[in-house]
Amino acid sequence: MADRKPIDSWLTDMDGVLIHEGVPIPGADAFLKKLRESGKPFLVLTNNSIYTPRDLHARLRRMGLDVPIENIWTSALATAQFLDDQRPEGTAYVIGEAGLTTALHDIGYILTDHEPDYVVLGETRTYSFEAMTKAVRLINDGARFICTNPDETGPSAEGALPATGAVAALITKATGKQPYFAGKPNPLMMRTGLNTIGAHSETSAMIGDRMDTDVLAGMEAGMQTFLVLTGLTRPEQVEDFPYRPSKVVDSIADLVDRI
Ligand SMILES: [Mg+2]
Repeated sequence: MADRKPIDSWLTDMDGVLIHEGVPIPGADAFLKKLRESGKPFLVLTNNSIYTPRDLHARLRRMGLDVPIENIWTSALATAQFLDDQRPEGTAYVIGEAGLTTALHDIGYILTDHEPDYVVLGETRTYSFEAMTKAVRLINDGARFICTNPDETGPSAEGALPATGAVAALITKATGKQPYFAGKPNPLMMRTGLNTIGAHSETSAMIGDRMDTDVLAGMEAGMQTFLVLTGLTRPEQVEDFPYRPSKVVDSIADLVDRI
């Protein structure tokens, strides 16, 4: 990494990097404090589309982590940014929670089940058969199929939960149409985030706990990548992938002095 430019801005994944099962990872607080004091642009990323940045700010605050609302970037925001670029002031039928509906309202989208431009699928805990039936019929009638993120399962204290990618597969099976996924590992999520904070990929770094989403998307967006071992990846798994992070570190605590 000797010939790389200094890092002027930071993107970091949330789960497995800053928090784990509702508890801050040691070093996360110091890392965020140093980032805030440095004045460098940064974003905390999550593929979770349930919550608004305001909700996530409050949830992190309760865990003792201070991330300003404007420094939170979700797959719902990336999806909304994508749709605003593609078809400004369009219409969408949405399956999802406030994180997604608020993001779409904020870019001037009209939410409707009458001939929408798009069907937009996000995460919810209450997928209804009626809503999925409506989505299938609207896609069959020509609505374009967009999904916030491809994650097939999500974590919970009791075990795996079916997530957005699994529900998208159901709709794909019923319609024959593949969705466009806006969230990680699509580097679009990084690029839209970098644009939002006025940062450039060649002087930015991405921190994550997963090779197949965080490191892949960061690498494809042209950023330096740091893999932490406080989440899903074990050190011996890194070599199984055809790509590698710029650096593997034990935890976020090891990156405080790089800011
Ligand atoms: Mg993670």
